[in-house]
Amino acid sequence: IGLLLRQDPEIASVLLDELDRLRGGIQLIASENLASPAVLAALGSTLTNKYAEGYPGRRYYGGCEVVDRAEKLAIDRARQLFGAEHVNVQPHSGASANLAAYAALLQPGDTVLAMALPHGGHLTHGSKVNFSGRWFDIVAYGVRRDTELIDYDEVRELALRHQPKMIICGATAYPREIDFAAFRGIADEVGAWLMADVAHTVGLMAGGALPSAVPYADVVTFTTHKALRGPRGGGIMCTAELATKIDRAVFPFVQGGPLMHAVAAKAVAFGEALQPEFAVYARQVVDNARTLADALAAEGMRPVAGGTDSHLALIDLRDVGVTGALAEQRCAAAGITLNRNAIPYDPEPATVTSGIRVGTPCVTTQGMGPEEMKEVAALVAQAVRSPETADEIRERVLALMAVHPAYPSEL
Ligand code: PLP
Repeated sequence: IGLLLRQDPEIASVLLDELDRLRGGIQLIASENLASPAVLAALGSTLTNKYAEGYPGRRYYGGCEVVDRAEKLAIDRARQLFGAEHVNVQPHSGASANLAAYAALLQPGDTVLAMALPHGGHLTHGSKVNFSGRWFDIVAYGVRRDTELIDYDEVRELALRHQPKMIICGATAYPREIDFAAFRGIADEVGAWLMADVAHTVGLMAGGALPSAVPYADVVTFTTHKALRGPRGGGIMCTAELATKIDRAVFPFVQGGPLMHAVAAKAVAFGEALQPEFAVYARQVVDNARTLADALAAEGMRPVAGGTDSHLALIDLRDVGVTGALAEQRCAAAGITLNRNAIPYDPEPATVTSGIRVGTPCVTTQGMGPEEMKEVAALVAQAVRSPETADEIRERVLALMAVHPAYPSEL
Protein backbone atom coordinates (compact mmCIF):
# COMPACT_ATOMS: atom_id res chain seq x y z
CA ILE A 1 0.00 0.00 0.00
CA GLY A 2 3.04 2.28 0.55
CA LEU A 3 3.78 2.29 -3.17
CA LEU A 4 0.16 2.90 -4.10
CA LEU A 5 -0.05 5.75 -1.58
CA ARG A 6 2.84 7.49 -3.32
CA GLN A 7 1.73 6.79 -6.89
CA ASP A 8 -2.05 7.00 -6.66
CA PRO A 9 -3.20 8.43 -3.33
CA GLU A 10 -6.80 8.65 -4.51
CA ILE A 11 -7.12 4.91 -5.11
CA ALA A 12 -4.93 4.12 -2.08
CA SER A 13 -7.40 6.01 0.06
CA VAL A 14 -10.27 3.94 -1.39
CA LEU A 15 -8.45 0.75 -0.33
CA LEU A 16 -7.72 2.10 3.14
CA ASP A 17 -11.24 3.44 3.59
CA GLU A 18 -12.75 0.10 2.59
CA LEU A 19 -10.55 -1.67 5.15
CA ASP A 20 -11.70 0.89 7.74
CA ARG A 21 -15.32 0.27 6.73
CA LEU A 22 -14.87 -3.49 7.23
CA ARG A 23 -13.21 -2.92 10.59
CA GLY A 24 -15.72 -0.33 11.71
CA GLY A 25 -18.97 -2.26 11.25
CA ILE A 26 -20.62 -5.65 11.37
CA GLN A 27 -21.01 -7.28 7.96
CA LEU A 28 -24.11 -9.43 7.74
CA ILE A 29 -24.38 -9.60 3.93
CA ALA A 30 -24.94 -13.31 3.35
CA SER A 31 -23.04 -13.40 0.04
CA GLU A 32 -19.86 -11.80 1.38
CA ASN A 33 -16.85 -12.97 3.34
CA LEU A 34 -13.35 -11.82 4.29
CA ALA A 35 -10.86 -13.50 1.98
CA SER A 36 -7.61 -14.46 3.70
CA PRO A 37 -4.41 -12.42 3.30
CA ALA A 38 -3.01 -15.36 1.26
CA VAL A 39 -5.94 -15.15 -1.18
CA LEU A 40 -5.45 -11.37 -1.40
CA ALA A 41 -1.73 -11.89 -2.10
CA ALA A 42 -2.48 -14.19 -5.03
CA LEU A 43 -4.98 -11.69 -6.39
CA GLY A 44 -2.48 -8.86 -6.23
CA SER A 45 0.17 -10.78 -8.19
CA THR A 46 1.86 -10.67 -11.61
CA LEU A 47 -0.36 -13.53 -12.75
CA THR A 48 -2.81 -10.80 -13.76
CA ASN A 49 -0.53 -10.14 -16.74
CA LYS A 50 -0.78 -13.51 -18.39
CA TYR A 51 -2.97 -14.42 -21.32
CA ALA A 52 -3.79 -18.11 -21.14
CA GLU A 53 -6.73 -18.82 -23.47
CA GLY A 54 -7.34 -22.54 -23.47
CA TYR A 55 -6.66 -25.05 -20.72
CA PRO A 56 -3.47 -26.34 -19.01
CA GLY A 57 -1.19 -27.95 -21.60
CA ARG A 58 -3.50 -26.78 -24.45
CA ARG A 59 -3.12 -22.99 -24.54
CA TYR A 60 -3.36 -20.56 -27.44
CA TYR A 61 -0.50 -18.45 -26.01
CA GLY A 62 3.16 -19.13 -25.25
CA GLY A 63 4.66 -18.74 -21.81
CA CYS A 64 1.84 -20.49 -19.98
CA GLU A 65 3.93 -23.21 -18.34
CA VAL A 66 4.01 -21.36 -15.01
CA VAL A 67 0.36 -20.33 -14.81
CA ASP A 68 -0.61 -23.85 -15.92
CA ARG A 69 0.63 -25.01 -12.53
CA ALA A 70 -1.80 -22.67 -10.77
CA GLU A 71 -4.78 -23.86 -12.80
CA LYS A 72 -3.86 -27.55 -12.34
CA LEU A 73 -3.57 -27.02 -8.59
CA ALA A 74 -6.93 -25.25 -8.50
CA ILE A 75 -8.59 -28.09 -10.45
CA ASP A 76 -6.94 -30.88 -8.42
CA ARG A 77 -7.79 -29.24 -5.09
CA ALA A 78 -11.40 -28.56 -6.10
CA ARG A 79 -11.82 -32.15 -7.30
CA GLN A 80 -10.43 -33.41 -4.01
CA LEU A 81 -12.61 -31.04 -2.00
CA PHE A 82 -15.88 -31.90 -3.73
CA GLY A 83 -15.23 -35.34 -5.20
CA ALA A 84 -16.21 -34.00 -8.61
CA GLU A 85 -15.28 -35.83 -11.81
CA HIS A 86 -14.50 -32.60 -13.63
CA VAL A 87 -14.00 -28.98 -12.56
CA ASN A 88 -13.64 -25.83 -14.62
CA VAL A 89 -12.15 -23.00 -12.54
CA GLN A 90 -12.17 -20.30 -15.21
CA PRO A 91 -15.61 -18.63 -14.93
CA HIS A 92 -15.13 -15.00 -13.95
CA SER A 93 -18.24 -15.04 -11.76
CA GLY A 94 -21.30 -17.03 -10.78
CA ALA A 95 -23.30 -15.41 -13.58
CA SER A 96 -20.64 -16.39 -16.15
CA ALA A 97 -20.64 -19.95 -14.80
CA ASN A 98 -24.41 -20.15 -15.22
CA LEU A 99 -24.27 -18.69 -18.73
CA ALA A 100 -21.66 -21.31 -19.68
CA ALA A 101 -23.66 -24.15 -18.15
CA TYR A 102 -26.74 -23.11 -20.14
CA ALA A 103 -24.65 -22.67 -23.28
CA ALA A 104 -23.30 -26.21 -22.87
CA LEU A 105 -26.66 -27.93 -22.47
CA LEU A 106 -29.42 -25.73 -23.91
CA GLN A 107 -30.49 -23.97 -27.10
CA PRO A 108 -32.27 -20.61 -27.07
CA GLY A 109 -36.00 -21.20 -26.68
CA ASP A 110 -35.61 -24.33 -24.54
CA THR A 111 -37.81 -24.73 -21.49
CA VAL A 112 -36.12 -24.42 -18.10
CA LEU A 113 -37.71 -25.00 -14.69
CA ALA A 114 -36.16 -22.81 -11.99
CA MET A 115 -36.94 -21.16 -8.69
CA ALA A 116 -38.79 -17.84 -8.90
CA LEU A 117 -36.69 -14.79 -8.01
CA PRO A 118 -39.21 -13.45 -5.44
CA HIS A 119 -39.07 -16.82 -3.69
CA GLY A 120 -35.28 -16.91 -3.44
CA GLY A 121 -34.05 -17.78 -6.94
CA HIS A 122 -31.28 -15.83 -8.69
CA LEU A 123 -31.50 -13.32 -11.55
CA THR A 124 -29.68 -15.80 -13.78
CA HIS A 125 -32.38 -18.41 -13.15
CA GLY A 126 -34.83 -16.77 -15.52
CA SER A 127 -35.44 -13.16 -14.62
CA LYS A 128 -36.78 -11.14 -17.55
CA VAL A 129 -34.05 -8.54 -17.05
CA ASN A 130 -31.35 -11.22 -17.45
CA PHE A 131 -30.17 -13.28 -20.47
CA SER A 132 -31.71 -16.34 -18.87
CA GLY A 133 -35.22 -14.91 -18.95
CA ARG A 134 -34.76 -13.47 -22.44
CA TRP A 135 -33.31 -16.56 -24.13
CA PHE A 136 -35.17 -19.42 -22.44
CA ASP A 137 -38.76 -20.29 -21.83
CA ILE A 138 -38.75 -20.18 -18.05
CA VAL A 139 -41.23 -21.99 -15.86
CA ALA A 140 -40.89 -20.94 -12.22
CA TYR A 141 -41.51 -22.95 -9.06
CA GLY A 142 -41.71 -21.43 -5.62
CA VAL A 143 -42.15 -22.16 -1.95
CA ARG A 144 -45.41 -23.14 -0.26
CA ARG A 145 -47.31 -20.29 1.36
CA ASP A 146 -47.79 -22.20 4.63
CA THR A 147 -44.33 -23.71 5.18
CA GLU A 148 -42.22 -21.36 3.03
CA LEU A 149 -40.34 -24.49 1.93
CA ILE A 150 -39.77 -25.60 -1.68
CA ASP A 151 -42.90 -27.33 -2.87
CA TYR A 152 -41.47 -30.54 -4.38
CA ASP A 153 -44.96 -31.65 -5.46
CA GLU A 154 -45.31 -28.43 -7.43
CA VAL A 155 -41.83 -28.89 -8.94
CA ARG A 156 -42.80 -32.39 -10.09
CA GLU A 157 -46.18 -31.30 -11.47
CA LEU A 158 -44.62 -28.43 -13.39
CA ALA A 159 -41.88 -30.72 -14.71
CA LEU A 160 -44.41 -33.30 -15.91
CA ARG A 161 -46.57 -30.61 -17.52
CA HIS A 162 -43.83 -28.55 -19.20
CA GLN A 163 -41.17 -31.22 -19.89
CA PRO A 164 -38.21 -28.85 -19.29
CA LYS A 165 -34.82 -29.53 -20.85
CA MET A 166 -33.19 -28.43 -17.60
CA ILE A 167 -34.23 -28.11 -13.96
CA ILE A 168 -32.28 -25.68 -11.79
CA CYS A 169 -32.08 -25.96 -8.04
CA GLY A 170 -30.10 -23.69 -5.74
CA ALA A 171 -30.99 -20.21 -4.59
CA THR A 172 -29.93 -16.81 -3.36
CA ALA A 173 -32.26 -16.37 -0.41
CA TYR A 174 -33.50 -19.79 0.65
CA PRO A 175 -32.44 -20.62 4.21
CA ARG A 176 -33.26 -24.32 4.31
CA GLU A 177 -31.49 -27.43 3.04
CA ILE A 178 -32.34 -28.33 -0.55
CA ASP A 179 -33.27 -31.94 -1.28
CA PHE A 180 -31.00 -32.64 -4.25
CA ALA A 181 -32.08 -36.29 -4.37
CA ALA A 182 -35.72 -35.21 -4.82
CA PHE A 183 -34.72 -32.89 -7.67
CA ARG A 184 -32.68 -35.71 -9.25
CA GLY A 185 -35.70 -38.00 -9.11
CA ILE A 186 -37.91 -35.40 -10.82
CA ALA A 187 -35.27 -34.62 -13.46
CA ASP A 188 -34.93 -38.35 -14.24
CA GLU A 189 -38.67 -38.74 -14.54
CA VAL A 190 -38.86 -36.13 -17.31
CA GLY A 191 -35.40 -36.66 -18.84
CA ALA A 192 -34.14 -33.18 -17.90
CA TRP A 193 -30.63 -32.05 -17.05
CA LEU A 194 -30.29 -31.20 -13.36
CA MET A 195 -28.22 -28.12 -12.63
CA ALA A 196 -27.47 -27.13 -9.03
CA ASP A 197 -26.38 -23.53 -8.55
CA VAL A 198 -24.69 -23.69 -5.16
CA ALA A 199 -23.13 -20.21 -5.36
CA HIS A 200 -24.22 -19.50 -1.80
CA THR A 201 -23.69 -22.83 -0.12
CA VAL A 202 -20.62 -24.31 -1.80
CA GLY A 203 -18.46 -23.31 1.19
CA LEU A 204 -20.81 -25.15 3.53
CA MET A 205 -20.70 -28.16 1.20
CA ALA A 206 -16.89 -27.98 1.23
CA GLY A 207 -16.86 -27.98 5.01
CA GLY A 208 -19.42 -30.78 5.31
CA ALA A 209 -22.01 -28.52 6.97
CA LEU A 210 -24.58 -29.10 4.21
CA PRO A 211 -25.05 -32.12 1.92
CA SER A 212 -23.24 -31.95 -1.42
CA ALA A 213 -25.08 -31.49 -4.72
CA VAL A 214 -22.23 -33.15 -6.64
CA PRO A 215 -23.51 -36.76 -6.44
CA TYR A 216 -26.92 -35.70 -7.78
CA ALA A 217 -26.57 -32.91 -10.34
CA ASP A 218 -25.24 -33.21 -13.88
CA VAL A 219 -23.75 -29.75 -13.52
CA VAL A 220 -22.95 -27.78 -10.37
CA THR A 221 -22.17 -24.08 -10.71
CA PHE A 222 -20.69 -22.08 -7.86
CA THR A 223 -19.00 -18.89 -6.76
CA THR A 224 -15.74 -18.77 -4.82
CA HIS A 225 -16.25 -15.56 -2.86
CA LYS A 226 -19.16 -16.32 -0.58
CA ALA A 227 -19.03 -18.82 2.31
CA LEU A 228 -16.09 -20.52 0.52
CA ARG A 229 -14.03 -17.40 1.37
CA GLY A 230 -12.00 -17.22 -1.81
CA PRO A 231 -11.55 -14.55 -4.48
CA ARG A 232 -14.47 -13.10 -6.43
CA GLY A 233 -15.13 -15.69 -9.13
CA GLY A 234 -17.01 -18.75 -10.28
CA GLY A 235 -16.59 -22.38 -11.21
CA ILE A 236 -18.38 -25.37 -12.67
CA MET A 237 -18.30 -29.03 -11.65
CA CYS A 238 -19.74 -31.76 -13.84
CA THR A 239 -19.66 -35.40 -14.77
CA ALA A 240 -16.76 -36.66 -16.90
CA GLU A 241 -19.26 -37.14 -19.72
CA LEU A 242 -20.04 -33.40 -19.84
CA ALA A 243 -16.45 -32.20 -19.33
CA THR A 244 -15.72 -31.24 -22.95
CA LYS A 245 -19.08 -29.53 -23.43
CA ILE A 246 -18.61 -27.46 -20.28
CA ASP A 247 -15.00 -26.54 -21.07
CA ARG A 248 -15.90 -25.43 -24.61
CA ALA A 249 -18.83 -23.42 -23.29
CA VAL A 250 -16.62 -21.52 -20.83
CA PHE A 251 -13.91 -20.95 -23.44
CA PRO A 252 -14.24 -20.03 -26.27
CA PHE A 253 -18.03 -19.66 -26.21
CA VAL A 254 -18.62 -17.37 -23.21
CA GLN A 255 -15.21 -16.09 -22.14
CA GLY A 256 -11.81 -15.21 -23.54
CA GLY A 257 -8.65 -15.39 -21.45
CA PRO A 258 -9.02 -16.61 -17.88
CA LEU A 259 -8.01 -14.33 -15.00
CA MET A 260 -4.96 -16.29 -13.90
CA HIS A 261 -4.41 -14.28 -10.71
CA ALA A 262 -8.00 -15.17 -9.73
CA VAL A 263 -7.44 -18.81 -10.71
CA ALA A 264 -4.35 -18.90 -8.44
CA ALA A 265 -6.37 -17.28 -5.65
CA LYS A 266 -9.09 -19.92 -6.15
CA ALA A 267 -6.39 -22.59 -5.70
CA VAL A 268 -5.34 -20.93 -2.44
CA ALA A 269 -8.95 -20.85 -1.22
CA PHE A 270 -9.55 -24.51 -2.16
CA GLY A 271 -6.33 -25.36 -0.29
CA GLU A 272 -7.59 -23.50 2.77
CA ALA A 273 -10.97 -25.24 2.52
CA LEU A 274 -9.21 -28.63 2.51
CA GLN A 275 -7.80 -27.95 6.00
CA PRO A 276 -9.66 -29.41 8.99
CA GLU A 277 -10.18 -25.89 10.41
CA PHE A 278 -12.45 -25.09 7.49
CA ALA A 279 -14.92 -27.80 8.46
CA VAL A 280 -15.01 -26.26 11.94
CA TYR A 281 -15.59 -22.87 10.35
CA ALA A 282 -18.42 -24.12 8.11
CA ARG A 283 -20.24 -25.72 11.03
CA GLN A 284 -19.79 -22.57 13.10
CA VAL A 285 -21.25 -20.47 10.25
CA VAL A 286 -24.42 -22.59 10.39
CA ASP A 287 -24.56 -22.64 14.20
CA ASN A 288 -24.16 -18.88 14.23
CA ALA A 289 -26.91 -18.39 11.63
CA ARG A 290 -29.25 -20.56 13.72
CA THR A 291 -28.46 -18.66 16.91
CA LEU A 292 -28.88 -15.33 15.12
CA ALA A 293 -32.24 -16.39 13.63
CA ASP A 294 -33.50 -17.69 16.99
CA ALA A 295 -32.40 -14.53 18.78
CA LEU A 296 -34.09 -12.33 16.16
CA ALA A 297 -37.23 -14.45 16.53
CA ALA A 298 -37.10 -13.77 20.28
CA GLU A 299 -37.02 -10.06 19.37
CA GLY A 300 -40.30 -10.45 17.45
CA MET A 301 -38.67 -10.73 14.02
CA ARG A 302 -39.92 -13.87 12.30
CA PRO A 303 -37.43 -16.09 10.43
CA VAL A 304 -38.96 -17.21 7.14
CA ALA A 305 -39.34 -21.01 6.80
CA GLY A 306 -39.05 -21.29 10.58
CA GLY A 307 -35.28 -20.79 10.70
CA THR A 308 -32.20 -21.89 8.82
CA ASP A 309 -29.99 -24.86 7.93
CA SER A 310 -27.42 -22.67 6.23
CA HIS A 311 -25.41 -19.46 6.56
CA LEU A 312 -28.36 -17.13 6.13
CA ALA A 313 -31.73 -16.28 7.54
CA LEU A 314 -34.51 -14.37 5.89
CA ILE A 315 -36.38 -12.22 8.39
CA ASP A 316 -39.98 -11.07 7.98
CA LEU A 317 -40.31 -7.60 9.55
CA ARG A 318 -44.05 -7.14 9.08
CA ASP A 319 -44.79 -7.69 12.79
CA VAL A 320 -42.34 -4.90 13.61
CA GLY A 321 -43.98 -2.54 11.10
CA VAL A 322 -40.70 -1.55 9.42
CA THR A 323 -39.99 -2.25 5.73
CA GLY A 324 -36.85 -4.03 4.56
CA ALA A 325 -35.57 -0.84 2.92
CA LEU A 326 -35.99 1.20 6.11
CA ALA A 327 -34.43 -1.56 8.24
CA GLU A 328 -31.42 -1.68 5.89
CA GLN A 329 -31.00 2.10 6.24
CA ARG A 330 -31.41 2.10 10.01
CA CYS A 331 -28.93 -0.74 10.48
CA ALA A 332 -26.43 1.04 8.21
CA ALA A 333 -26.70 4.15 10.41
CA ALA A 334 -25.86 1.97 13.41
CA GLY A 335 -22.81 0.32 11.77
CA ILE A 336 -24.48 -2.91 10.67
CA THR A 337 -24.44 -3.79 6.97
CA LEU A 338 -27.20 -6.07 5.71
CA ASN A 339 -29.61 -6.09 2.78
CA ARG A 340 -33.33 -5.77 2.34
CA ASN A 341 -34.82 -8.85 0.76
CA ALA A 342 -38.20 -9.89 -0.56
CA ILE A 343 -39.88 -12.57 1.51
CA PRO A 344 -42.06 -15.17 -0.22
CA TYR A 345 -45.41 -13.66 -1.28
CA ASP A 346 -44.11 -10.23 -0.28
CA PRO A 347 -46.80 -7.54 -0.55
CA GLU A 348 -44.15 -4.82 -0.95
CA PRO A 349 -42.31 -4.03 -4.22
CA ALA A 350 -38.76 -5.38 -4.68
CA THR A 351 -37.22 -1.97 -3.96
CA VAL A 352 -38.95 -1.81 -0.56
CA THR A 353 -39.60 -5.42 0.60
CA SER A 354 -40.89 -6.70 3.93
CA GLY A 355 -37.71 -8.48 4.91
CA ILE A 356 -34.01 -8.46 5.51
CA ARG A 357 -31.43 -11.16 4.80
CA VAL A 358 -28.71 -11.77 7.38
CA GLY A 359 -25.69 -14.02 6.92
CA THR A 360 -22.87 -15.19 9.14
CA PRO A 361 -19.84 -15.95 6.87
CA CYS A 362 -18.01 -12.69 7.74
CA VAL A 363 -18.69 -12.57 11.47
CA THR A 364 -17.70 -16.24 11.79
CA THR A 365 -14.44 -15.57 9.94
CA GLN A 366 -13.85 -12.90 12.59
CA GLY A 367 -14.15 -15.57 15.28
CA MET A 368 -17.59 -14.63 16.61
CA GLY A 369 -19.71 -17.37 18.16
CA PRO A 370 -23.19 -17.86 19.68
CA GLU A 371 -22.77 -15.26 22.46
CA GLU A 372 -21.80 -12.61 19.93
CA MET A 373 -24.73 -13.64 17.69
CA LYS A 374 -27.14 -12.93 20.54
CA GLU A 375 -25.56 -9.51 20.96
CA VAL A 376 -25.71 -8.88 17.19
CA ALA A 377 -29.41 -9.82 17.14
CA ALA A 378 -30.08 -7.39 20.00
CA LEU A 379 -28.21 -4.66 18.12
CA VAL A 380 -30.11 -5.32 14.86
CA ALA A 381 -33.44 -5.30 16.72
CA GLN A 382 -32.60 -2.04 18.49
CA ALA A 383 -31.38 -0.43 15.27
CA VAL A 384 -34.59 -1.38 13.45
CA ARG A 385 -36.94 -0.33 16.25
CA SER A 386 -35.14 2.65 17.79
CA PRO A 387 -33.22 4.52 15.10
CA GLU A 388 -32.70 7.45 17.48
CA THR A 389 -30.22 5.25 19.42
CA ALA A 390 -27.97 4.64 16.39
CA ASP A 391 -24.94 6.32 18.00
CA GLU A 392 -25.20 4.17 21.10
CA ILE A 393 -25.52 1.01 18.96
CA ARG A 394 -22.50 2.03 16.91
CA GLU A 395 -20.41 2.20 20.12
CA ARG A 396 -21.44 -1.36 20.98
CA VAL A 397 -20.70 -2.49 17.41
CA LEU A 398 -17.20 -1.02 17.70
CA ALA A 399 -16.66 -2.74 21.04
CA LEU A 400 -17.56 -6.07 19.43
CA MET A 401 -15.30 -5.37 16.46
CA ALA A 402 -12.40 -4.50 18.79
CA VAL A 403 -12.52 -8.03 20.23
CA HIS A 404 -13.17 -9.69 16.83
CA PRO A 405 -11.46 -7.50 14.24
CA ALA A 406 -11.88 -7.89 10.49
CA TYR A 407 -8.28 -8.62 9.38
CA PRO A 408 -5.17 -8.38 11.52
CA SER A 409 -3.79 -4.90 12.14
CA GLU A 410 -0.68 -5.58 10.02
CA LEU A 411 -2.69 -6.12 6.80
N1 PLP B 1 -26.15 -17.78 -8.46
C1 PLP B 1 -26.60 -17.53 -7.22
C2 PLP B 1 -27.54 -18.52 -6.58
C3 PLP B 1 -26.20 -16.38 -6.55
O1 PLP B 1 -26.68 -16.13 -5.33
C4 PLP B 1 -25.33 -15.48 -7.19
C5 PLP B 1 -24.88 -14.24 -6.54
O2 PLP B 1 -25.33 -13.82 -5.53
C6 PLP B 1 -24.91 -15.77 -8.49
C7 PLP B 1 -25.33 -16.93 -9.09
C8 PLP B 1 -24.07 -14.82 -9.28
O3 PLP B 1 -22.79 -14.69 -8.83
P1 PLP B 1 -21.90 -13.46 -9.33
O4 PLP B 1 -22.37 -12.27 -8.57
O5 PLP B 1 -20.49 -13.89 -9.01
O6 PLP B 1 -22.12 -13.32 -10.80
